[in-house]
Amino acid sequence: MLNIVIFGAPGSGKGTQSARIVEKYGLNHISTGDVLRAEIKNGTELGKTAKGYIDNGQLIPDALMIDILASVFDSFKDSKGVIFDGFPRTIAQAEALKKMLKERGQEVSIMLDLEVPEDELMTRLIKRGQESGRADDNEETIKKRLVVYHSQTAPLIDWYKNDGKYCHIQGLGTMEGIFADICAAIDKL
Ligand code: ATP
Repeated sequence: MLNIVIFGAPGSGKGTQSARIVEKYGLNHISTGDVLRAEIKNGTELGKTAKGYIDNGQLIPDALMIDILASVFDSFKDSKGVIFDGFPRTIAQAEALKKMLKERGQEVSIMLDLEVPEDELMTRLIKRGQESGRADDNEETIKKRLVVYHSQTAPLIDWYKNDGKYCHIQGLGTMEGIFADICAAIDKL
């Protein structure tokens, strides 16, 4: 199985590039953000809990996130592989993912880090908020999400370098150009 982690700050294009990877390589897509937004839309208990964190630009607690991830992953048994989009976001989540895959005789194949400058992230997210009405894409919440990204999520770059899975992708450029770089990295596996 191909187990790809797509990584980057909010607005780095994880969702957009994931859709293309899914289409080309026939993988299943696990977007933890999409999972949580669906729970909110359906008004579940989990959705109610998640909304408080998301609207405030904070991360959902690790234990909860790890449980959700494992159950979604197990629903994709016997597939060609999975793309993890938005997970892991903390060191504890990365360790849990490694353990979960190991218990299933698998591992992360590659971690693709989409790097985009901060001013560009802000521009993209504000535009997305205006177009889609996503509640957490407003300037105040975006700033909080970027702080959380730098303090809790960015340390995963070194974590994956140490694990030998890290791959840098220049996230600025045309969508086609970025996708071509991603495919080149995946095809080398
Ligand atoms: P994109 O790169 O697609 O623009 P994003 O970072 O803007 O992604 P999502 O991945 O959709 O947005 O996440 C939205 C929110 O959901 C996060 O700000 C966080 O509150 C919550 N969330 C998503 N995944 C996790 C996770 N793995 N751990 C904790 N919270 C999460």
